[in-house]
Amino acid sequence: MTEKKSSPATIAAQALGWIDPITRAVVPPIHPSTTYLRDEDNGYSSGRMYARADNPGYDQAEAVLVALEGGAAAALFASGSAASSAVFLALDPGDHVVVSRVMYWSLRNWLLTFATRWGLRVELVEPSDLEAVRAAVQPGVTRLIWVETPANPLWTVADIAALAGIARAAGARLAVDSTVATPVLTRPLALGADLVMHSATKYLNGHSDVVAGALITAREDEFWQRIKANRVQMGGILGPFEAWLLLRGLRTLFARVLLACASAQLIAERLSVHPKVREVLYPGLPGFPGHDIARRQMDGGFGAMLSIRVQGGKTAAIATAARVRVWKRATSLGGVESFIEHRASIEGSTSPVPPDLLRLSVGLEAAEDLIGDLVEALESAQV
Ligand code: PLP
Repeated sequence: MTEKKSSPATIAAQALGWIDPITRAVVPPIHPSTTYLRDEDNGYSSGRMYARADNPGYDQAEAVLVALEGGAAAALFASGSAASSAVFLALDPGDHVVVSRVMYWSLRNWLLTFATRWGLRVELVEPSDLEAVRAAVQPGVTRLIWVETPANPLWTVADIAALAGIARAAGARLAVDSTVATPVLTRPLALGADLVMHSATKYLNGHSDVVAGALITAREDEFWQRIKANRVQMGGILGPFEAWLLLRGLRTLFARVLLACASAQLIAERLSVHPKVREVLYPGLPGFPGHDIARRQMDGGFGAMLSIRVQGGKTAAIATAARVRVWKRATSLGGVESFIEHRASIEGSTSPVPPDLLRLSVGLEAAEDLIGDLVEALESAQV
């Protein structure tokens, strides 16, 4: 195993330095078996019985995530959505939760429909407004505060340390969707959060070829045991091949994220002075609300996600997206290729997203190619 003092980039690149004890392979095998042999004394000395409960292919990726996030334990899920819902379903019907108004739209819809019908009392707040969060949280009653930072797709920044203080004072837990920040830029547990969630479909895997999710906990407490039981009993597990691909993607996490962040910063700065752009939403711009908090809690960059609001409204936004050639018109984020998307078309009526907004996921192409392509599209869409 890699020495404990290794830096996070080394931990990721070597996936903790694991070597197969039998073959000396530096890459682990894939274990497709769904079941494990019982011992003659009727026990399971391997510690494994059935693949819905656990898979050896999870061990290394979970251990890498524990090391990168500074947690006590991690669990992989079939998707980020499976990971998120496992947290909310570990609460009890009647429990009160306070969640970000701006967040991954499908989770917000799930909370306002399924989770509410199931019995959770869901309150939406703007987490950058700490007074509003304090007012929404009911001491002894609120069980969970859930925030996403930077929050998709307006990239609002929540102050994790301050929110952790509010949660602690009220006897609630703080969970952070850190998909966009990644452990390269932010470590929510070190700032006081109790749980971190990643849609590993995005940067952790990074190649747009796996749907996966992950949770990392600060403590292996009773709540964590409930979450783990949810994974086994509801069956939202990751396949062994997907877990293997995820570990492969994790090895290049630092190089990918740091390069994409540098390009995103450049793109944000260049577009923020372009006459066809009304506004650039990016935590790395000094004038952006939340920039100072982002400087405190993000290290190495401000993320590779930004949004632009174009002059000319919805029609111009859709026309711009139609004209790009290097950017790909696709949903999702965190891949090696850059994506552009008109979010209001997707998110529906509960969305706080303005109709002139285009979301940009910056990949690993040359930044100048991305800027040139977008500027050409903006200028030809708005003659
Ligand atoms: N959280 C964020 C910030 C996301 O962008 C997404 C997906 O786009 C999710 C969670 C849900 O993840 P998944 O698609 O892996 O279920």
